[in-house]
Amino acid sequence: MIEASCVILAGGKGERFGGKKQFLELFGKPLFMYPLEKALKLFEEVLLVLPKEDLSRVKVPRRVKLVEGGKERQDSVLNALLECNKDLVVIHDAVRPLAGEELFLKVVELENYDGKIVAIPVRDTVKEVMGDRVIRTLDRTKLWLSQTPQAFKRKVLLECHFKARNEGFYSTDDSALLERYGYRVGITMGSFLNLKVTYKEDLEILRLLAYNLKDE
Ligand code: C5P
Repeated sequence: MIEASCVILAGGKGERFGGKKQFLELFGKPLFMYPLEKALKLFEEVLLVLPKEDLSRVKVPRRVKLVEGGKERQDSVLNALLECNKDLVVIHDAVRPLAGEELFLKVVELENYDGKIVAIPVRDTVKEVMGDRVIRTLDRTKLWLSQTPQAFKRKVLLECHFKARNEGFYSTDDSALLERYGYRVGITMGSFLNLKVTYKEDLEILRLLAYNLKDE
């Protein structure tokens, strides 16, 4: 088992999706259970962030520490970080249920970095747009799409979260906070199959992908 705390984030309200997507079922199991079970297999400490109103309702395996979610994703991470006991912390979005074991194993190898993320290179041509007008085309060779899991030295991540809280700075992933405060973030290849459920159609894609992956 890896000597690290793994935080599974399932504390969102799913505003863009129109409901709490982390509780939707895939083959009869809620989405958050997929990464949670993987984390229990791999990590010495496992935390699950849930919305306050779901804490007493949701049944989880005994070893899981439950944490109350915050207003934004970043607030939920900070709540969990304050409960982590290991020097290395892994943060993962519950709505990426297909993240494979190999991604978790790769991302915890920090080497000389303070944090590491999994990400995939951009495949499409990316345009900067204002209203309905294209302004320019970005150089996609430099662009990567950030995924989770992401791993960090706990002390560094905590310090960055406190600084961000003081400044009122919010970002959609944790590595952005390290970048902002001058820490070193490494990158390792993620997976195109590590889909994030954000909109309704993502669930359809997820079902198809998961169905095919089941037989592998
Ligand atoms: O909102 P978004 O899709 O970026 O959420 C990513 C993950 O963070 C989801 O698994 C969601 O449940 C979680 N989250 C959270 N607390 C919030 C908002 C989002 O744990 N306040």
